[in-house]
Amino acid sequence: MTALRTTSGRKIEPASHTQAALEIVGAAALPATLETTRKLPQINDGFRANRLLGRVIPPALFVFIIHGWRIVSLHATPYLYYTLQRPRSAVLYCVGFNVLLCAMMYNYLSVYLLPRDHSRPPRAVPDDVREKRVIFECDRQGEPTRCWQDACNGSWRPARARHCRDCKRCRLGFDHCCPWFGTCITSPASGKAFIHFCFFVQPLLTLALSVILPLTISQVSKVVELTWTTDSLGYELLAAEWWHHWYSWSGGPGFRWLIGLLLGYWHLDRIVEHQPDLALVVPRSAVASSDPHYLLSQPRVATLLIVTIAVFVQLVALALLIVGTQQIAQGVWTVEVQRARRWRRHGGNIDDRLRLWIPADGIHSDNRRHQGFIAAIEPDVRIYDRGPRENLTAILGERWWASWESSQDPCTSVTIAPAMLEGLWQAHLGKDR
Ligand SMILES: [Zn+2]
Ligand SMILES: [Zn+2]
Repeated sequence: MTALRTTSGRKIEPASHTQAALEIVGAAALPATLETTRKLPQINDGFRANRLLGRVIPPALFVFIIHGWRIVSLHATPYLYYTLQRPRSAVLYCVGFNVLLCAMMYNYLSVYLLPRDHSRPPRAVPDDVREKRVIFECDRQGEPTRCWQDACNGSWRPARARHCRDCKRCRLGFDHCCPWFGTCITSPASGKAFIHFCFFVQPLLTLALSVILPLTISQVSKVVELTWTTDSLGYELLAAEWWHHWYSWSGGPGFRWLIGLLLGYWHLDRIVEHQPDLALVVPRSAVASSDPHYLLSQPRVATLLIVTIAVFVQLVALALLIVGTQQIAQGVWTVEVQRARRWRRHGGNIDDRLRLWIPADGIHSDNRRHQGFIAAIEPDVRIYDRGPRENLTAILGERWWASWESSQDPCTSVTIAPAMLEGLWQAHLGKDR
């Protein structure tokens, strides 16, 4: 049996011989110019942190949402109603929170519950692409791009579709693989719901935290006052357990204070037990076993944790909302931004150009010299930018506020601005002369 060689001259060892031979036979319908090395499938079986996070974060988010709902509806609302004596605010607070929560959950679940195979490009190259009658992403030979990773194994990869190494499949209109949802954010399936989710998180958490955050902050300062200061009730306990030990510095000052605060919370329970008349944030008289809002009236680690997570989630969602909306308005997706950044970092020395096949037909029909040409476009040119309004409409639809209407963009055809197309054509003609 003679050893197979790839076009680069690398000998393929007998162990992978059969597989390689199958790849070559399977690719017989493709032009001979395609390099054999590209047909060896790349399997993404290694450890990927993003994949692990995508499994862990969504269940953790559900636990957080259930606890958050409990604190707002069953503790903060009675606190407003009974302790602060503001019944109307309490009703508005509770109803507003639950309505916004439904809106947020609707968008979250519509991404989280997407079938695993969502946004998958068609396997076979469509006729008008194969016959080069439309614009499509192509390789150096002007042939439609294909994906050779994982199970894609040579299937068509249209423009703006990318292979997600975490989900091990190609996705149309790929933006990024999001660990918050455990799936990919793509423009046809989940882009709009993703933006709406990030949006609804803002009023939802602002409303929830408007009551809980000031309480939590005053509780933290109360705990610090009662357990950290030298003449406080808890100081001796904390000093013996934490402050006087070298290991309290092992994680830096932030770690020292965090554990000090948690220990303060822990000891405060015992201190309160022995000092029932201790003035806490909420009058002690309101605290009883039948207290309807005990999670707020006493400093509780669980409440502190939920509030910290809520602040973190709100800030991350706000950043994603701003960046996401900006990118959509500019007609770029996260993968394209990263690609342009990588290209600039290498000073333009890596060939990461986007290649598009531009058919002559229908553009300059008087020009019959060409069937078309390959335009190699540098990664930081915003080829798909059609102006903010049109860009936003492509993802958010005409009725951008309607969460239940998903994007209508099939993402298999290439739509570029007419001016950009004309520019590419002129550049090509100029080069030809
Ligand atoms: Zn793929
Ligand atoms: Zn993915």
